[in-house]
Formats: sequence, C-alpha cells, structure tokens
Amino acid sequence: MSMTVPSSFKPSGGLIQPNIEQPTTRASLALLNGIPAQPKRTTAAKQPRTWSFIDSRDGERMTVTCLPGCQSNHGSDQDKQIHPSDVWCQIRSEDVHVPVNTGKVEDFRLLSVTLNQIPFSSRYAERLPHANVEVIDDHFIENLDPDALQQVINVARDRVAQMETAHSQLVELRNAAMGRTPTRPAPGTFGPEISLTAPGAQGSIVNAALYSTESDPLDTGAPLARIAVWANHGADAELDVAGADQFLADLEKLATQVRSLRNQLAAIEVAR
Ligand SMILES: [Zn+2]
Repeated sequence: MSMTVPSSFKPSGGLIQPNIEQPTTRASLALLNGIPAQPKRTTAAKQPRTWSFIDSRDGERMTVTCLPGCQSNHGSDQDKQIHPSDVWCQIRSEDVHVPVNTGKVEDFRLLSVTLNQIPFSSRYAERLPHANVEVIDDHFIENLDPDALQQVINVARDRVAQMETAHSQLVELRNAAMGRTPTRPAPGTFGPEISLTAPGAQGSIVNAALYSTESDPLDTGAPLARIAVWANHGADAELDVAGADQFLADLEKLATQVRSLRNQLAAIEVAR
C-alpha cells in the first residue's frame, strides 16, 4: 500500500479536507450510537470549469478544463505561477467512518473513493480520469481504471457477503448461548415467507420459507426441516435501468434472507 500523495506533491489549491466534523464529535457520537454520524454529501458542480495559470517554468499561460464535477478549489492557483503538475482535479465520495481499536478507539475512514485527474502529470495513468480507493485512512489503492475498480468492488462485495453470513451465524450462536431454541416452524407448517418481486411483475419471482415436516416417529432419517423454494409462473418483468437497480438491491436483500434461513436450518439440524 502507498500514499496517494507523495510527500513532494503539492496539489492544486489543496485537497478538500476529508474531515468535515470534529473527530471528538464523531467519537462521542460513536459512543452513543455505536456508529459514527456521517457527513452530508456535497453536491458536485455539473459544468466543467475552465481556468488558467502561469507555467512557473517558462511563464506561458496554460488553460485547464476541469474534470466535470471537479470539487478541487483551484482558486489559489488561478492566474498564479505554479508548476503544471500541481493541477489536480478531484471528485470525492461520501466518507464513512468505522471505530477501530488501535489501543484506543479511533474513527477511521473506510473504502472512500475519489475520482482524480492530474492533467499535466508526468505519469500517463494520472493524466486520465482514474479512481483511488482509500482502503482505510491513508492506505490507498491508486490509479485504478474501470476494470481495476470493478475488481476492488468485487472483493469488497464478497467481503460484505461473508460479513452477512457471519451476522446470521452470530444471531444463531447467540441464541444457542442464551439457551434459545432455533425458531423451527411447527411440524407440517411453513415459517415466515420471504419473496423477491420485480418492478412491474405480477406476483413474486422467487419465494422461500423454512418448512418443517410432520414428526418422524420411526426416526428413518427423513428430514425434519428444509428450505422450500418456489417460483410463481408467469411472474415476469421487463426492467429499465431504475428497475434493474431496484431488482439488484432486492436480489441482494433476498440473498441475505436466504443465508439467514440456511443458518436457521443448520442450527435446527445441530439441535436435533
Ligand atoms: Zn479541477
């Protein structure tokens, strides 16, 4: 891992300060709520700015057209003598902080993404719009093209899926530790049903529920509980982009719910 900003590098007009709130405020909110309050998103300017500066090497006037949506404050560089490679356009994402115990509990930014362009950089990758992902405060994966950013997203998504699995397992483990029996439906009945709908579809696309079979007096090894999964025929949909976004969000929610059913089933089988 490396820093985004080499110590010799002075960005144009200074980077936008990452910490909008006072750390003490965030820390005390974290203590109250478990999760620190997040700063509000700042709206990016829509129109690219065009401005100029004087090249400190030869006195030539240079014109810059900002990265559309650029949030860098170039005011202190405009019409001033600066080195061209000090021009740095940046679009920031909303910061999210998590409390980390480093001997004391401190708030660290997690997975913030900036879009950057350093139009006169000596490094070609920096002259093109590129993403920098801050894994955790001051530790970056830099100069990502769209494919590389997608890889980082995929790794993070896998991590989140595993955290969701750990969450359902934790719920079951805590239930077991506190002497609560797993929530098994009465024999011959279904537990609460979960379902996936698609925008515009007549009825749900996929349904699932924990199902408990009739009692098994002969102990033949027949299953006592299963997850029933079924579809509603004819429940189809044609999605526009917004519909696809909604469907993807619902799919991810369904995956979490099915994982929870799976862990309930595993806990029931362990308890047999
Ligand atoms: Zn800019």
